[in-house]
Amino acid sequence: MAPASDACRRLFTFPANPYALGDDIALTQTFGWVGAWSSQPSAWGIAARGASDVVAAVNFAREHRLRLVVKGGGHSYQGTSNAADSLLVWTRAMNDVRLIERFLPSGCAASTTPMRAVSVGAGALWSHVYDAVTTKGGGYVQGGGCMTVGVAGLVQSGGFGSFSKAFGLAAGSLLEADVVTADGVLRTVNACRDADLFWALKGGGGGNFGVVTRLVLRVHPLPETFGAVNFTVRADSDAAYRQLIATTLDFCRATLVGPHWGEQIRFLPGRVLAVAMVFQGLSRSEAKAGWQPFFDAVDAAGSALHVDFALLKIVATDARTFWSPTLVKRLLGFIKHDDRPSAPEGNVFWPGDQGQAGQVLHAYESLWLPVRLLDPSGHDTFADALFAATRHWRVSLHLNKGLAGAPSHVLAEARETAMNPAVLDAFALAILGAGGPPAYPGIVGHEPDAADARRETDALSRAFAELRKVVPDTGAYLAESNFFQAHWPRAFWGSNLARLRAVKERFDPDGLFVTHHGVGSERWSADGFTRVA
Ligand SMILES: Cc1cc2nc3c(=O)[nH]c(=O)nc-3n(C[C@H](O)[C@H](O)[C@H](O)COP(=O)(O)OP(=O)(O)OC[C@H]3O[C@@H](n4cnc5c(N)ncnc54)[C@H](O)[C@@H]3O)c2cc1C
Repeated sequence: MAPASDACRRLFTFPANPYALGDDIALTQTFGWVGAWSSQPSAWGIAARGASDVVAAVNFAREHRLRLVVKGGGHSYQGTSNAADSLLVWTRAMNDVRLIERFLPSGCAASTTPMRAVSVGAGALWSHVYDAVTTKGGGYVQGGGCMTVGVAGLVQSGGFGSFSKAFGLAAGSLLEADVVTADGVLRTVNACRDADLFWALKGGGGGNFGVVTRLVLRVHPLPETFGAVNFTVRADSDAAYRQLIATTLDFCRATLVGPHWGEQIRFLPGRVLAVAMVFQGLSRSEAKAGWQPFFDAVDAAGSALHVDFALLKIVATDARTFWSPTLVKRLLGFIKHDDRPSAPEGNVFWPGDQGQAGQVLHAYESLWLPVRLLDPSGHDTFADALFAATRHWRVSLHLNKGLAGAPSHVLAEARETAMNPAVLDAFALAILGAGGPPAYPGIVGHEPDAADARRETDALSRAFAELRKVVPDTGAYLAESNFFQAHWPRAFWGSNLARLRAVKERFDPDGLFVTHHGVGSERWSADGFTRVA
């Protein structure tokens, strides 16, 4: 593609269309990470249409000792769904979604109670699953917040959505999966069949144990309402901002660490607090009343704090329309549509996610924040750390990505996954990210800004170091973490690591499936071609 061509210009248009990127076999949603990786098309690719195509691809790769890579939604921040000189299994076309009213996992006792469930082809995107399950089916399935993330990749990461504090990890709702293992066998795995492999697929990381061809997820009863709360508060002085941070943490402990609430509170440099929360199972007036103590505390600070009332939005909607592109939502800009002329009606996405389509990452960190940080005894130290961090970079607390405050059955399901148990008593996942617009090394006029990336990486690292002072040893969420994560096996899986390694050894002893920072990848060179241990 010539740098001056229209095709090249389109590729680097910002913001990009996330569906168009996903429909191109040669592209990934993130174009790269400065100093880490750049998206590479495979030498050969198979656009799989069914499990038999996947079996053939796995056998061919094993017999010819090829570097195999698997791509679904293509949203890996770590670049684990692309590799140079590889054979790609691309599952995008395996995207059927089917509701099952009375599902029984195969091989389980006849006494098992049938459940409402949804069978999903491995290449499906969450937007299409929400359309089938919620908009059309009136149920709830726990998927991702970003609608263009792939189902198989997210579930194997563990997987959080906006309402995970109520419904848990996406992996916690996995009932069964079909997976082609390195020996070319298509297995149906669940809690009763190949239970260890089934467990490893629930948070052990995508692309490490086999190629998933189908997933069956539990469908939960749909709450009556979903809603959102958005506003910003500005502080006049550093002292007022430090106090605002403390007030916000108090309010988290009192109100937000529970099943009704999810999404983000952002502490920004420039003494700004940005709230972008969602709720479930509350009316608009209940949500408003819930926030009143916070607004009262802000009022009490007088002129030191200013709520931007022009931006204050508290809205609630019938849960069934939450993911549907109603005319009102489109007109108000709450939801966006794939703008290609022949795009299916269901190709929708949140405007807030569009900036990530085609982005190039500069730096990224995540860490789980134990709920004890909100205790009166630790709360001041944590507020100081957050304040110090914002001197350098913005910090987002994703309250839906820590399960403290979730119902006990949700915690029990999460314990049955391979995810780091640190998630269980975390009230939030802190995320610090930095990136630039679509770019690619070596394409004149569209190269990543290396100087900017270095500057941002330094600033972000300084901010992260402040948080690390108060939480030196918790885990990171593998799907949203630093490419250069220190002590990554422990950080991603904690005490589940040994069991995951045993599953890997049993189902993929020769390392057909290798991804960056995947289970067993320490035995391989960074390009995945050479065994080093
Ligand atoms: C814009 C954006 C928003 C995000 N939002 C969220 C969010 O709200 N919640 C959250 O928890 N995470 C989120 N993530 C992280 C995301 O969940 C993970 O990166 C996830 O792995 C992506 O899955 P995918 O299928 O889209 O990506 P891919 O890049 O296609 O796959 C990711 C990994 O899974 C493997 N894989 C994919 N399909 C299969 C398969 N069928 N069988 C075996 N392995 C497979 C790939 O080889 C790769 O290693 C987000 C990421 C991005 C870029």
